[in-house]
Amino acid sequence: QAVIGSSKFKFSYYITGFFILIGVLLGRFVCGFLCPFGWFQELLHKIPFKKFSTKKLKPLRYIKYGVLLIFVILLPLLVTNSLGMGNPFFCKYLCPQGVLEGAIPLSIANASIRAALGKLFTWKFGILITFVILSLMFYRPFCKWICPLGAIYALCNKVSFLQMKVDEDKCVSCGKCERACKMDVDVTKHPNHTECIRCGMCIKECPTEAIHYQYGFGNSKPNDKKASHE
Ligand code: SF4
Ligand code: SF4
Repeated sequence: QAVIGSSKFKFSYYITGFFILIGVLLGRFVCGFLCPFGWFQELLHKIPFKKFSTKKLKPLRYIKYGVLLIFVILLPLLVTNSLGMGNPFFCKYLCPQGVLEGAIPLSIANASIRAALGKLFTWKFGILITFVILSLMFYRPFCKWICPLGAIYALCNKVSFLQMKVDEDKCVSCGKCERACKMDVDVTKHPNHTECIRCGMCIKECPTEAIHYQYGFGNSKPNDKKASHE
């Protein structure tokens, strides 16, 4: 956003290349295991509270692609000041992570920062509280519906080196993997679905050990190597 909104540059090859590199190496494993806000939502969801399924809310998944296009790319590019500079619209107006990890601890530690907090902080704090409450009820609502980084890695899932594989010979179609998936993916039909965060819950639940991670090119099954030596 900073580069798109700057007056000198319009496209960051470094950042885009970095996202593509991480996306190809890991896909949405980043969401499952590296993102601190994903972890935060995960912890909130463990708190006893009435839980709701997101299966019927699947169309909301597409909001994050709109956020990526509009707030991260188009608004910083098109809405500029007299110097030709745009705002980082997503970070400034939507992302609750900056409030959680930046504004709140800084304002607790520093009285002058506390005194300077205004309407924007109130707005973003409201977004944070909304997602805290939603996370108690729904699994990872921000990852599923809003996060533009999640959208980028979702698009990389299909070409990522890290893939889910289902051994059709072992699968007995019990459906346990689909029921275990909190991202509402049926791994037997769509092993590299855009919503799969590579959490491994389906692997744990499968009674026949039909699901596994695969890293790299090719289509090998776990026993292929063994078989080829026999
Ligand atoms: S349970 Fe399986 S299919 Fe669902 S998100 Fe986790 S790894 Fe992906
Ligand atoms: S849990 Fe395992 S055996 Fe059951 S449907 Fe999924 S992959 Fe097949």
